[in-house]
Amino acid sequence: SPVKLTRALLSVSDKAGLVELGQALARHGVELVSTGGTARALREAGLDVRDISDLTGFPEMMDGRVKTLHPKVHGGLLAVRDNPEHVASMQEHEIGAIDLVVVNLYPFAATVAKGADRDEIIENIDIGGPSMVRSAAKNHASVAIVTDPSDYAELIEALDADGGATTLGFRRRLAAKAYSATAAYDAMISQWFAFADQQQVFPDMLAVTANKREELRYGENPHQKAALYIPAGPHARGIAQAEQLQGKELSYNNYNDADAALELVSEFRDGPPTVVIVKHANPCGVASADTLIEACQAALACDSVSAFGGIIAVNRPLDGPTAEAISGIFTEVVAAPDADEDARAIFAKKKNLRLLLTGELPDPARGGLMLKTIAGGYLVQSRDNGRVTREMLKTVTRRAPTEQELTDCLFAWTVAKHVKSNAIVYAKGGSTAGVGAGQMNRLESARIAAWKAKDAAEKAGWAEPRTIGSAVASDAFFPFADGLLAAVEAGATAVIQPGGSIRDEEVIAAADEAGLAMVFTGMRHFRH
Ligand code: 5GP
Repeated sequence: SPVKLTRALLSVSDKAGLVELGQALARHGVELVSTGGTARALREAGLDVRDISDLTGFPEMMDGRVKTLHPKVHGGLLAVRDNPEHVASMQEHEIGAIDLVVVNLYPFAATVAKGADRDEIIENIDIGGPSMVRSAAKNHASVAIVTDPSDYAELIEALDADGGATTLGFRRRLAAKAYSATAAYDAMISQWFAFADQQQVFPDMLAVTANKREELRYGENPHQKAALYIPAGPHARGIAQAEQLQGKELSYNNYNDADAALELVSEFRDGPPTVVIVKHANPCGVASADTLIEACQAALACDSVSAFGGIIAVNRPLDGPTAEAISGIFTEVVAAPDADEDARAIFAKKKNLRLLLTGELPDPARGGLMLKTIAGGYLVQSRDNGRVTREMLKTVTRRAPTEQELTDCLFAWTVAKHVKSNAIVYAKGGSTAGVGAGQMNRLESARIAAWKAKDAAEKAGWAEPRTIGSAVASDAFFPFADGLLAAVEAGATAVIQPGGSIRDEEVIAAADEAGLAMVFTGMRHFRH
C-alpha cells in the first residue's frame, strides 16, 4: 500500500546528495526533521528544517551520544498505523508519525583506517543511527528506510512518480538492505575488537552470519582452535545436520572427512548399494554392489591399509552383516541414512565408534556457495554440482567403449570428482581398483594408483591387480601422453577425461596405438 510522506527524519554522517534529496522532499511538502550537522547542512541550502531537539523536547547531549534515542522518535517510527491502541498512545504522548528515515552511520571503518586512537574509534560507534535504521526497517509496512546515498535517486524518482508516496515493494527492498547495513556495521566493530586487542574471540566473529553449534576440541592440529557453525539463515542439510547415535565427540578432522565421504556417497543416492571409505578427505575405496556387505568388502579390498582409521559412508540403511564387517576394522566414523536394530546393536559394542545417521542423503545436484579463506581474503565459488551423463560423452578413439567399460568409466569419473587433484582413479566392475590423489603431476597420480592396485592384489592374494581391464578416469585433461601410457602399462582398456589439451591429438594417438577406448566429458573436476 502506498504511503504518502508527511515527515522525514534525516541524520547522516555522509552528507553527499543530502541537499538534492532535501529539496525533493520539500517539493512534495514533507516536513524535514534533522540532527545537528545534518540540519545545518540543509539550512545552509535554504531549506526549512525542524531540529530533533524540538521534536523530542530534549537537547542533543553527551557529545552526540544521545540525540535521537527518544520515544518521540522511536514511537513515531514503530507505531502500527492501523492499530487503535498504538494510535491512542501516539495521541496521548503527542507522538507524530515519521514515514521516512534517511540515515547513514558514523564512519567507523574510515576512522579505523586513518589510524585514529582507541577513544576516537570508540566514539565512532554509532548507537542512535542503527537504532533508527532497525526501527524503521521493522515497520517497513509504513516507513521507508534509506541507508545508502546511492538510493536517493531512486527514492526521488519514486516520489515524483507516485505523488510523494512510497510503495510496499520498494520499502521491503530498502528494509532488507537496511538490516544488511546494520549487520555489516556490527560485524566490523566486532572484528575490530578481536583484531585490535589480538583477542582470541575468533570464532565468535562469524556470529553475524552463522551460529556456533559447538566448540571442537581443537582444529586440524592440537594447537589450533576450532568450532562448528551452522548458517543463521536457510541452508541445505549435510553432515553438520547428522544425528550422532554414539561414540566420542566428533573432531574437526572427523567432520571434514565425514563431509567428504557423505558428499561422495550422495552421488550414488539413486544408485545400487554403495560404500565409500575416506582418509584425509580422499576416498581410498569406493564400491557399488548388489548388497551393502558386498560393496563394503569390495571397497575395503581396494586399499585395506589406508582404510585403517577411516571414515565410512553408505547410501543405504546399515544392516547387521555390514555393521559386523565394519566392526572388524578400526573405523573412526560411520555415516548412513539409517541403521537397523541389528546394526545398532553391533555398533553399540564399539564404544568409540561414532555413528551418524543422516536421513535422506543430500541432493548432489543442489547449488550453494563454497567458502575458503586465503591470507587477507575469502575465496567464494559456487558448489561443484556438475554431473556428467552418458549422453554428454564423446568417443574420440577408433574403438568405442563397451557397455561394461562405459559403466566403469562413469563410476571412476564420479569418484575422481571427489579426489583431490591431480586425481587418477582406476575402476572395474563397480569398484575402485586404485586411487591416485593430490600429486603435483598427473603422471605421478597414475603411477601411484597403479602401484596401490598391485599392492592390494598381493594383500588379497588375487592373481592380478584389478587395473587389468579397468577404466581410468582423470579429473582434468592429460597434458601429455605419458599419464595415459602409465594407465596402459597398468592394464587399463578405457579412459574417461575432459579433453581440451592442445596435445589431445597426441594423447588420442597413444590411446589408439594401445587399442584403448577413450571418451571426453567436456567437464573438469579440479578439487583442492
Ligand atoms: P549530524 O551530522 O546530523 O549531527 O549527525 C548524524 C549522525 O548521527 C548519523 O550518522 C546518525 O546515525 C547519528 N545519530 C543519530 N542519532 C544518534 C544518537 O542518538 N546517538 C548516536 N551515537 N548517534 C546518532
